[in-house]
Amino acid sequence: MDVDQIVGEQQVIQKLERTGAHSHIRGLGLDDKLEPIQKSEGMVGQNAARKAAGIVVKMIKEGRISGRAILIAGQPGTGKTAIAMGIAKSLSQETPFVSMSASELFSLDISKSESLMQAFRKAISISIKEESDFLEGEVVEIQIDRSADQLTRVGKLTLKSTDMETVYDLGQKMIDNLIKEKVTAGDIITINKSNGVVTKMGRNFTRSQDYDAIGPNTKFIHCPEGEIQKRKIVRHFLNLHEIDVINSRQQGFMALFSGDTGEIKSEDRMKVNAKISEWKDEGKAELHPGVLFIDEAHMLDAECFSFLNRALESEFAPIVIFATNRGITKIRGTTFKSPHGFPPDFLDRLIIIRTIPYSNEDISQILKIRAEEEQVNIHDDAHLILTKMATESSLRYSLQLIITSDILAKKRKSNQVEVQDVKEAYGLFMDSKRSKAFIEQYEKEFNFLLDVSTTTTNG
Ligand code: ADP
Ligand code: ADP
Repeated sequence: MDVDQIVGEQQVIQKLERTGAHSHIRGLGLDDKLEPIQKSEGMVGQNAARKAAGIVVKMIKEGRISGRAILIAGQPGTGKTAIAMGIAKSLSQETPFVSMSASELFSLDISKSESLMQAFRKAISISIKEESDFLEGEVVEIQIDRSADQLTRVGKLTLKSTDMETVYDLGQKMIDNLIKEKVTAGDIITINKSNGVVTKMGRNFTRSQDYDAIGPNTKFIHCPEGEIQKRKIVRHFLNLHEIDVINSRQQGFMALFSGDTGEIKSEDRMKVNAKISEWKDEGKAELHPGVLFIDEAHMLDAECFSFLNRALESEFAPIVIFATNRGITKIRGTTFKSPHGFPPDFLDRLIIIRTIPYSNEDISQILKIRAEEEQVNIHDDAHLILTKMATESSLRYSLQLIITSDILAKKRKSNQVEVQDVKEAYGLFMDSKRSKAFIEQYEKEFNFLLDVSTTTTNG
């Protein structure tokens, strides 16, 4: 059987693979009593904030958060984003998480309320069920060769279940998909026959000793039973903003690719809301409110707050988490000062969580977790230097040096990052302190850079 033929000509838009800065966060790392475990689910330290976040998760699950929002206040690099992500992951591993900075609102050519509205809608998704045919089995063998004319590749894939074993011919596209997912013998995979998407479910238990094929998140499962070919219900996820764009006459779905979606009429959104409520009642679709994270929240102004006041009360509202590193500061666009730059009536809506600076030990552990996540092997001495740099410069800077040092180490054909690599990376890439000092030193020659140094905010 030819899997490519089954797949047909359909084009698949696959998500860009990217190891985000917070990909190691898998939850808040709390026990049943909501007590933080020192190192769990990718989280380290910041115990009081994590416990508070756990209580917030409980409130959300019990439906007792409506009309309210969360504010996480603390210095840059103290894990505000990480905790917001942890809240989303604790709700469910796939809770939509949309992250933005309040400063973005001022640089767009659409109004601030409109772009906040779009962010709100991006943070809520619906799922629609559909039946699809799948192949599901354990990979016995993958064989990929050059064809006789050397121009294309040909391949065979052998899959088995507890009951049967079948060999499939692979076309170009399936070969690419399997390589991209790094599928090897012993993996248990599913292939969606309608679009060719390959998903790794885990590895067979009996393969738990092949260390070189095991990543930090490898799951061990049993070989599937029964037929290899199965009919399953799959759920498709779309966020409300995508649905708005597809439905709005002027834009059309192509606008999703350019990102230039302009303003969407409120009557179009109302139509979408009505349709979704209908689908929900008929059991055709489920609604999944996610988390909208708004960083640098002290940049919000009166127009934003008046929008947020209304929007938080609406039926289609995600969980909104603000973050700021400011204490008492001016409310933007006014001469009044208030805590975190929020107007007093809005402060009443907020559940405020504080983060505090990390100890050396916490920083050392976070660097270790990130190195594991990026699959970088770091020598103890180099690790010590990275920890020291994090305290003197910033945690984020040290985290970046992990990858740049790794590239330098690989260039000299070493698979371990040593002190020399970190030193070299430190010389090549500036942290914000040295960058600022550099600009100040060359102020006259680099006049144009001055704007940058004066508008830089830390956070
Ligand atoms: P902030 O939002 O306060 O500026 P971030 O959440 O961006 O800080 O933290 C900087 C980096 O450190 C991120 O990569 C984040 O995932 C990681 N990090 C921060 N706090 C923790 C923690 N308690 N446990 C694990 N990783 C963390
Ligand atoms: P819960 O167990 O929290 O009730 P759901 O029943 O909503 O979770 O979801 C079950 C599964 O559906 C999740 O494990 C995940 O695979 C998928 N899922 C749920 N919500 C989303 C989403 N917004 N985006 C992508 N996948 C999702």
